Amino acid sequence: MKIAVLSGKGGTGKTLVSVNLAYSAENSSYIDCDVEEPNGFLYFKPKKNKTKKINVKMPFVDQEKCIGCRKCVNFCNFNALAYTGKRLLVFEDICHSCGGCTLVCPVGAISEKDKDIGKIEIGESGNVSVFTGILNIGEASGIPVIKGLMREVEKENKDINIIDCPPGSACIVMESINDADYCILVAEPSIFGAHNLEMVYELVTLFKKPLGVILNKYSEGINPSEIFCNENNINILGKIYYSEEIGNLNSEGNILAAEKEEYKKLFSSLLEKIVKEVE
Ligand code: SF4
Ligand code: SF4
Repeated sequence: MKIAVLSGKGGTGKTLVSVNLAYSAENSSYIDCDVEEPNGFLYFKPKKNKTKKINVKMPFVDQEKCIGCRKCVNFCNFNALAYTGKRLLVFEDICHSCGGCTLVCPVGAISEKDKDIGKIEIGESGNVSVFTGILNIGEASGIPVIKGLMREVEKENKDINIIDCPPGSACIVMESINDADYCILVAEPSIFGAHNLEMVYELVTLFKKPLGVILNKYSEGINPSEIFCNENNINILGKIYYSEEIGNLNSEGNILAAEKEEYKKLFSSLLEKIVKEVE
């Protein structure tokens, strides 16, 4: 079972929820798809046992063979090629590695080379297998890293797989929830928080995924995210009350469920609820 945890922005409590749910399951994987800023491993401190490089294919031009016909330039939908000064230039940052230019070149001037864009680290922490995707600084798209992560997760075959998605609702988030059986949206109690919730809610609805919301930093009083859920008949899975203790434990890299029975119960019951929803 794959459970994706999303939020409209960073700092909402997405990783806190993901880490604690994975910890509370008996046989689980924690998958950090926030490849630009992965931090879930800081909580688990896993014993690293495998690192895999992630490569993509990039066009490589033999300028001697190129006859300047520009067929490749016209083909590329991403404007990643330009023919200027009798040379074909490749803008690797915007190339999507579709391989099309290699196919359309009439003289075979374009071949493909591997480009290293990041890596995957796999480690163990108690009953949890920890998968971390890391995108090299300056790389434009983390999608190949997430695809690579999911391939590795499949091999492990754990009962519960918790996917800690990147924040927001861009294509990298779509890739992270693609195979999810259920989506948890983590929301903060503010107007901005409700706006972010609406953003990810629309995305998950578009993908026709079953979903529920966890209201984080909850306190009595007006909660715009809760109002949004009620107005849209969205299932509220649970509330994590605002507490200084949670803030401190979390900021020091502690797993709440490992620290206190009360938190263990909270996340175990949340997980139970979610598993029932999926079944
Ligand atoms: S591989 Fe695709 S995206 Fe990249 S330069 Fe060639 S046609 Fe453009
Ligand atoms: S299609 Fe081939 S020959 Fe034509 S410009 Fe591109 S690389 Fe050069």
